[in-house]
Amino acid sequence: MLNKRKFYINGQWVDPIKSNDCNVINPSTEENCAVISIGSKEDINLAVKSAKDAFNEWAFTSKEEKIKLLETLYSNYKKRWADFANAITMEMGAPKDFATKLQAGTGASHMKSFIRYLKNFEFEKPLGEHAPNQRLLYEPKGICALITPWNWPMNQVCLKVMPALSAGCTMVLKPSELAPLSSMILAEIIDETKFPSGVFNLVNGNGEITGNALTSHPDIDMISFTGSTRAGALISKNAANDFKRVSLELGGKGANIVFKDADPDAVERGATRCFRNSGQSCNAPTRMLVEKSIYKATVDRLIKFANDFKVDDPTKEGDHIGPVISETQFDKIQGLIQKGIDEGAKLVAGGLGKPDGLNKGYYVKPTVFVDVKNNMEIAQTEIFGPVLSVIPFETEQEAISIANDTSYGLTNYIQSQDQAKVHRVARKLRSGMVDVNGAGIAVDAPFGGFKHSGIGREAGQDGLLEFLEVKSVGGWS
Ligand code: NAD
Repeated sequence: MLNKRKFYINGQWVDPIKSNDCNVINPSTEENCAVISIGSKEDINLAVKSAKDAFNEWAFTSKEEKIKLLETLYSNYKKRWADFANAITMEMGAPKDFATKLQAGTGASHMKSFIRYLKNFEFEKPLGEHAPNQRLLYEPKGICALITPWNWPMNQVCLKVMPALSAGCTMVLKPSELAPLSSMILAEIIDETKFPSGVFNLVNGNGEITGNALTSHPDIDMISFTGSTRAGALISKNAANDFKRVSLELGGKGANIVFKDADPDAVERGATRCFRNSGQSCNAPTRMLVEKSIYKATVDRLIKFANDFKVDDPTKEGDHIGPVISETQFDKIQGLIQKGIDEGAKLVAGGLGKPDGLNKGYYVKPTVFVDVKNNMEIAQTEIFGPVLSVIPFETEQEAISIANDTSYGLTNYIQSQDQAKVHRVARKLRSGMVDVNGAGIAVDAPFGGFKHSGIGREAGQDGLLEFLEVKSVGGWS
């Protein structure tokens, strides 16, 4: 079992002030794979002080110097790529190939992308030709609390750490206590890159003690949080006391509207996106809305596809899915599958229990419910497991209404070959992102949600702007 009890504070690996162990459980074996510490209020105070002490120097470090350090960091990340992938497989069960290409890969993509945005970003510029002596200065928001979940660990951590560093902010990262190991490797390469002490700090811990201490600390200027809507609301209340800036990336319940003129791969592609990462993606298309005239044929295809979909040990190579993150999450998913049955949705694939031959580990069967009503709990609650709800529709307007009838608004999907229809529907969907015909959302496109899916945007230029305040100066020249 790995001993990962230390925190990274002020450029040093340090012991917690009071020991408070927490086991990290490998979800494919149900066994402890590492031990970390739960940071106390006192540990958080030390980390925030270290970030505060480092702020004045880092905020005014030149763009060239920052680029040099970030490029070295990116190169060090690439050298440890396999370590990141292995840690992610161990901590949250992403299968080897998926962990390597997508989980570790998205972290690298964001690093590369933010370096490009930093190079091109103008931190000082005139308001416009009409007002030549008016200057806009983009300045770091200050000391940041970065809090991340377990489902896409390096994607989410890099979406915060990279723009925060680029903006000139200093920070305390608290990764998920369920999947902290990849973040500790990131701290190792930040140390190796020789960022000035205190610019980046990492304290492990849970939400109740560590997260709460961090988000209520008076010296924190900004909180960037990805996680559940429940925790997002609690954090916002803490932030309101002293007007901390808040960026929230929360849950989703994406609709995938499959029109009768969808391309031949649309149905299987939609199911794959729902089951991918064992269904643990905020942007997963978990409600498939299917036009009536192709409904029966689509259901038949989905039954075959889900029954053939592979679930297996994440240490094996291949395109299967692994377990879900924890026993708690497994039980929650089982409870929601039971709820779907009780509410009268028709279960046509998967269902309760573990897949054959996988008795140890938190494995869930790829599950499909059809004839789902959008007001059922399985259509409204973010299940965070490989569970698809299929809902029939008759008209374009009805599809839009069903898609928008949710408290969330992160990503919706459209499958149709009719561009005019695609544009009409995309404009009417109340979500931060719309993915058409499997095109995907670019790595640097603004990522974020409407409604209960959050506040603010990550990635690319919008992601960098989240960490900047703008100052207007009159009489500059
Ligand atoms: P979670 O909210 O339980 O935990 C997320 C992080 O917040 C963890 O580090 C946790 O320790 C911390 N935390 C929990 N309660 C806190 C509190 N009161 N104060 C401060 N910190 C607290 O969520 P999770 O189960 O780890 O992650 C799954 C959720 O994340 C899903 O709802 C998913 O949709 C969402 N998510 C959203 C996006 C997005 O970009 N919109 C991306 C990935 C995941």
